[in-house]
Amino acid sequence: MSELDPRGHDRAGADLIARVTDWVAQARRIVALTGAGISTDSGIPDFRGPQGVWTRNPAAEKQSTLQNYLADPAVRQAAWRGRLEHTAWQARPNRGHQALVALERSGRLHALITQNVDELHQIAGNSPDKVIEVHGTIRRVMCWRCGQRTPMEQALARVRAGETDPACRQCGGILKSDTISFGQALVPEVIDRAMTVAGEADLLLAIGSTLQVYPVAGAVPLAARAGAKVVIVNAEPTGMDDLADALLRGPIGEILPAICAPAETLPPGA
Ligand code: NAD
Repeated sequence: MSELDPRGHDRAGADLIARVTDWVAQARRIVALTGAGISTDSGIPDFRGPQGVWTRNPAAEKQSTLQNYLADPAVRQAAWRGRLEHTAWQARPNRGHQALVALERSGRLHALITQNVDELHQIAGNSPDKVIEVHGTIRRVMCWRCGQRTPMEQALARVRAGETDPACRQCGGILKSDTISFGQALVPEVIDRAMTVAGEADLLLAIGSTLQVYPVAGAVPLAARAGAKVVIVNAEPTGMDDLADALLRGPIGEILPAICAPAETLPPGA
């Protein structure tokens, strides 16, 4: 396994970037697995990085359990106030997201598995049918009684108009963002699809994730066992570093354009 040290673009680091760029160029079925780290440059904090939401406030992790949300109106009211101010509403895709759009345009992106709920991959220009959202999206709400899904923006407009805990307009049930909370089951078909594409990859790029959240982190060993090269791009060590053929420890916004779109000029401000 080769490792790029975050301190620098020394000779060994440049060689490793060149080698991984070559792997990317040769691959035909690249699967990207993205986590919160790809969106921090867009102003959305991660959970477990040094400035992460849970690193700074461990109690926030407990508040986000499904059981607390469904049982306690005060938790829901606080959640709705938080949703109004979520950093995602102002966020724009960054150079990391744009690099994955360039990868798709080059015809080598087989699928993009994301743990993120911000939809910045689709907003950047990746095709929705390539993106597998294993933890859902905050841009929709779901009713816990009738299962109806509606745009988040409609619910937020009701909160802005004075409702503290808007109920489903169809059945009166509890509304929650259509994301997977702690204590909530994943959607089996979505996870199955993620694992299937991971097993089909010839190169797996794991980007901006601590790779600690299962079962999705299991996509990395699965791809490795099926013969894929594994490249990890993350500022910090991850739970899967031992499996990586190359570890690129540094800023995603610099590394991803270098390895995925070396000949492309990404749009200004991206
Ligand atoms: P995480 O918070 O566990 O880890 C993020 C990792 O990215 C950290 O190791 C951090 O050091 C690294 N990182 C952050 N910014 C970086 C940068 N610019 N360059 C290089 N590395 C960087 O993230 P996770 O593993 O995705 O798990 C968090 C869970 O919370 C996810 O499953 C997701 O559902 C959810 N989440 C989503 C968002 C989002 O949608 N943007 C944001 C926060 C959390």
